[in-house]
Amino acid sequence: MGTVYAIANQKGGVGKTTTAVNVAACIAEAGYPTLLVDVDAQANATVGLGLAKDLEPNLYDVLLGEAAVEEALRETAIPGLSVLPAHPDLAGATVELPRQAGSERRLADALAPLRERFAYVLLDCPPSLGPLTVNALVAADRVIVPVQTEYFALEGLAGLLDTLALVQRELNPRLTVAGMILTMHDGRTRLARDVEREVRQHFPDLVFDTVVPRNVRISEAPSFGRPVIHHDPQSSGADAYFELAKEVAARG
Ligand code: ADP
Ligand code: MG
Repeated sequence: MGTVYAIANQKGGVGKTTTAVNVAACIAEAGYPTLLVDVDAQANATVGLGLAKDLEPNLYDVLLGEAAVEEALRETAIPGLSVLPAHPDLAGATVELPRQAGSERRLADALAPLRERFAYVLLDCPPSLGPLTVNALVAADRVIVPVQTEYFALEGLAGLLDTLALVQRELNPRLTVAGMILTMHDGRTRLARDVEREVRQHFPDLVFDTVVPRNVRISEAPSFGRPVIHHDPQSSGADAYFELAKEVAARG
């Protein structure tokens, strides 16, 4: 029975997609059948794994009941890593889904038959706490929260944890926080070091030991349609994501 992880933070640009793509790639590389579900209309995870952002059928069709989930799955260039691709139309699902009763369980229902097939399923969430993120949180067992070590990092985290607690209480009692991952960390700046200390003090049990450094190889990898572990396996970014994947797996 596979474990489903939502990679969530309502802030944009904190490293959700980068974390989802690279942790998924590391886990697949370790030999576990892995599925990445691109829950963001921007389709950055889909494109970052070398696929087009307008594939048919896609997650939008699955959520609206117009395609079976098996039809929408795609293989990637990484052995063992499949993708359920996004599409720009997903933006419309934000309006369409809430009009339909029980719509917050659509993704959970769609993924249920895949839980035997994939050891790990990662859900790359959009930068909001809207209906798509709620669908992801209802489908997930655990949440990974990327946190950029910048000023304002803590702001919004308390609200996010409140939302997670609400979803757990009302919709998905299984849901727990796997951990927070500090991303885009520039250890040379005092600000980044201060923010790291502050986040660790606030959430002593939640923050992963691994810190993902700011690394240009990470940011250029998506333009080649591949994760950083393939783009530059020797880079500090690849190292960090290998370490993080191990920590995620070890926390179970
Ligand atoms: P989100 O999905 O939360 O919006 P992304 O993962 O897309 O965030 O990251 C935002 C931008 O920062 C992207 O251009 C990405 O390539 C870049 N980026 C993410 N992590 C790193 C990192 N560790 N070092 C350098 N650039 C990064
Ligand atoms: Mg993203």
